Parts: sequence; structure tokens; C-alpha cells
Amino acid sequence: MHEFFLVKDLIRKITSLAHEQGASRVTGVIVKLGALSHISPDHFREHFIHASLGTVAEGARLNIEVLTDVTDPQSQEVLLENIEIYLAT
Ligand SMILES: [Zn+2]
Repeated sequence: MHEFFLVKDLIRKITSLAHEQGASRVTGVIVKLGALSHISPDHFREHFIHASLGTVAEGARLNIEVLTDVTDPQSQEVLLENIEIYLAT
């Protein structure tokens, strides 16, 4: 269940970032999976797709980078690197 909360938290961050920037939709999400986050990109993607349903991030393209440095202080985290947004005019 750990990854469920990681992804929930990530969606929360994405949602508040999108609101800050006045975005109506998030079209892309770039994340880094820490070396000790114990989640594979495919598994992360499944959780992301499920957790993003009904949010601004629904249908967003997911770009996942897997980190290998186990000594990184954030190696247990899933890091939100950037989002791509759609601004309605
Ligand atoms: Zn899972």
C-alpha cells in the first residue's frame, strides 16, 4: 500500500501546482523514482492512471526516470520533476 500513498501525494502536488499556474489540464508529468522507492515504472504508471482519474492530471503523459543512486537522501521518494500544463484561453 506504500506506493498508493506516494502516488496520492504526488497527485495532490500536481493538482496544487496546476491551480497555482491557472491550468485547466495537466498534459504531462515528469517524475523521478528514487533508487529505494521500491516501485517499478510500470507499477507506478498503473497507480498513477488510477489515482489521476477525475483530477486535472487524468490522461497526462507520464515521463518516468529511474534513479540508481542509493546514497541520495531522497532515494526513497518519488520526486515530481515537472509538469506540462494546458492553459485555456
Ligand atoms: Zn501497487
